[in-house]
Amino acid sequence: SSDTPRVLSIQSHVVHGYVGNKSAVFPLQVLGFEVDSINTVQFSTHTGYKHIKGTSLKNEELDELIDGLTMNDVDYYTHFLTGYSRSPDSLKKIVEILKKLKEKNPNLNYVCDPVMGDNGRMYVPEDILPVYRDVVVPLADVITPNQFEAELITGLKMNNLEDALKIIEALHKKGPKTVVLSSTELGDETYMIAIASTGGVQYQINIPKLDAAFTGTGDLFASLFLAWWHKTNNDLKLTLENTISTLQIIVKDTYEKARVHQPTGKISPKLRELRIIQNKNFIENPKVTIVATKL
Ligand code: ATP
Ligand code: PLP
Ligand code: MG
Ligand code: MG
Repeated sequence: SSDTPRVLSIQSHVVHGYVGNKSAVFPLQVLGFEVDSINTVQFSTHTGYKHIKGTSLKNEELDELIDGLTMNDVDYYTHFLTGYSRSPDSLKKIVEILKKLKEKNPNLNYVCDPVMGDNGRMYVPEDILPVYRDVVVPLADVITPNQFEAELITGLKMNNLEDALKIIEALHKKGPKTVVLSSTELGDETYMIAIASTGGVQYQINIPKLDAAFTGTGDLFASLFLAWWHKTNNDLKLTLENTISTLQIIVKDTYEKARVHQPTGKISPKLRELRIIQNKNFIENPKVTIVATKL
């Protein structure tokens, strides 16, 4: 029906575990979104496991799926969400699709997670950077880079909060009305900082750090932000608080259950799979445990 928001989400699929669409689709559905999903890859697990098995969708196959939607007149969306992409060609294809969807709905909201790397290291081929920087980011309404990705896109370095605000400004200048740094290392050992910015207003939120590296949390972040941005009618503070509170519950629960099986040392990928479905009630009704402060 016309009142239900409709998302097209183009992301990875994993048979086991939670990254990409597996991480994003369920929360969006629970929050009342119709979600159409296209799987850019189908892998047995995410790529942090020892063995990587599976196949990638070819550009022609992606075209064919979009054609099918168009021909059947089911290509009207209120939101478009994209994440992990491995080639400049596939990104350019995403731009073509975006333009098509915008013809159908000029008010389409594009939430782009420009996934390129983390902690000073790129984990996609380097030639993807200019495509994000010069072509994709300028077309996005909301972007959710982490610190490293924001630095790559702007060519600026972030050593303090002042730098972060300059980088956010530079990102707005490229096009996106709403810029969210999903995580930065501007905190200390105990917390990381996320910052969201829109219409000249910025909010900061301090996120208690758990001693584990999670996978799929970036994808979960982008989907929750999209959902709450819409549901709160663009209330930036509440969107950030709901997004982070939900993530906190899920990563804490995942961490605590993993520690029961593995009390010390590095937690294996298998035990780090996000406990998303177990926390369905919290996704629906996030308890705000951390408040965002205006900058
Ligand atoms: P992307 O690569 O998708 O652009 P990202 O690198 O910021 O994003 P993550 O590092 O997964 O993605 O962080 C996303 C969110 O997940 C953070 O804002 C935080 O709420 C939560 N999170 C991730 N790792 C941890 C952790 N070790 N402790 C606590 N929270 C975490
Ligand atoms: N998609 C696939 C196939 C992956 O292997 C990964 C990470 O390993 C991701 C997406 C992104 O995960 P995250 O949300 O942690 O950035
Ligand atoms: Mg990160
Ligand atoms: Mg990510």
